[in-house]
Amino acid sequence: MKEVVILGGGYGGMNTLHGLLDNLPEDVHITVIDRNPYHSLKTEFYTIAAGTESDRHARVDFPTHEQVDYVFDEIVKIDPEQEEIIVKGGVENIPYDYLLIGLGCEDNYHGIEGAREFTESVQTFSKSRSAGFSINNLGAYGKITVVGAGLSGIEVASEVRESRPDLNIRLLDRGDTVLKAFDSKIQEYVEKWFKDNQVEVIHGANVEYVEKDGVCNNGVCYLNDVTVWTAGVRPNYLVRELPFEKDDQEKIIINDFYQVPSHQNVYVVGDCASSEYSPSAQLAGQQGEKVAEVLLAVLHGRVPERPGSVKLKGALGSLGKNDGFGNMLQKPMTGVLPRLAKSGVLWLSKRH
Ligand SMILES: Cc1cc2nc3c(=O)[nH]c(=O)nc-3n(C[C@H](O)[C@H](O)[C@H](O)COP(=O)(O)OP(=O)(O)OC[C@H]3O[C@@H](n4cnc5c(N)ncnc54)[C@H](O)[C@@H]3O)c2cc1C
Repeated sequence: MKEVVILGGGYGGMNTLHGLLDNLPEDVHITVIDRNPYHSLKTEFYTIAAGTESDRHARVDFPTHEQVDYVFDEIVKIDPEQEEIIVKGGVENIPYDYLLIGLGCEDNYHGIEGAREFTESVQTFSKSRSAGFSINNLGAYGKITVVGAGLSGIEVASEVRESRPDLNIRLLDRGDTVLKAFDSKIQEYVEKWFKDNQVEVIHGANVEYVEKDGVCNNGVCYLNDVTVWTAGVRPNYLVRELPFEKDDQEKIIINDFYQVPSHQNVYVVGDCASSEYSPSAQLAGQQGEKVAEVLLAVLHGRVPERPGSVKLKGALGSLGKNDGFGNMLQKPMTGVLPRLAKSGVLWLSKRH
């Protein structure tokens, strides 16, 4: 039997798995390893952090198949020389002939003192739940600071605002406008939404340190009950530890076949893989489909064709449940239409 091991049942890992199952040879066995016994919809973690949706909303059952086994455990090491994976509770290491790394990313604290210890996060399911507890246990008029005004920071701040009009919410933005990766029409719309909904946005932020009860920014310390960190990500630490060549964002450099050039039985997708595109679920999913094409050819003993380039359709974001923004048909759109489109994409991905 040939052993394929998939690390991470996120967007990249799941799309690879589904692609492989379309035409899996009989002499192949797949092991999927994830800490969670379900596929996590990370793009919905802001609802878990805001406490506006149940756990079930942001997860999907893994597919069952006679040639697939699951290990639900914490991966602690990838050993590319021995070609095996070490998991926390494992009696024996898990060997592989082919490996897919789709372990996603984690917060980047940029070395800021207190940020890791004293902030909530939306980067894992359990951390998002913890953020949800902290935010929802706040009494009337509690104070929240969200650090970072990219997509996830905007979604967290607006979702909390909509469900808790009493809370004092502050958003610290490093640039001179929120959502720096989006069109100016969207930036203006979102800035106005926050103004109209009494969320204080502070531009030009430069957080110096974080304490249990506050954030210090540009020499001013704000007293605060909960701080949520959405100020940047970096690849999973297991990936950063690997002896593979990385780009300046610490992501693994891959060839046109999504393989590690020095270890061509190792494939990398999503937030762990070097790419010309910004990290996204859409990118990870499409890369997963392409890895499946390449790997199926290899498993069937054929020379794989070079996969075509990914075709991204643009990002969609929410401002609570009834408002949103995003690029649709290559045009910046705001309001209820992109919000409906975002719900539609989620509905489709849950049924994929
Ligand atoms: C709040 C928020 C909103 C977002 N909104 C959007 C959006 O609207 N559109 C969009 O395209 N992107 C969005 N993103 C980004 C998107 O979620 C990621 O780019 C995408 O999830 C990356 O997919 P991936 O397959 O690389 O990793 P992930 O989907 O993160 O999957 C990684 C998997 O690895 C598992 N794992 C990690 N470490 C270990 C370990 N040590 N042991 C065991 N298992 C482990 C995790 O449990 C997880 O299942 C958002 C992100 C956040 C945080």
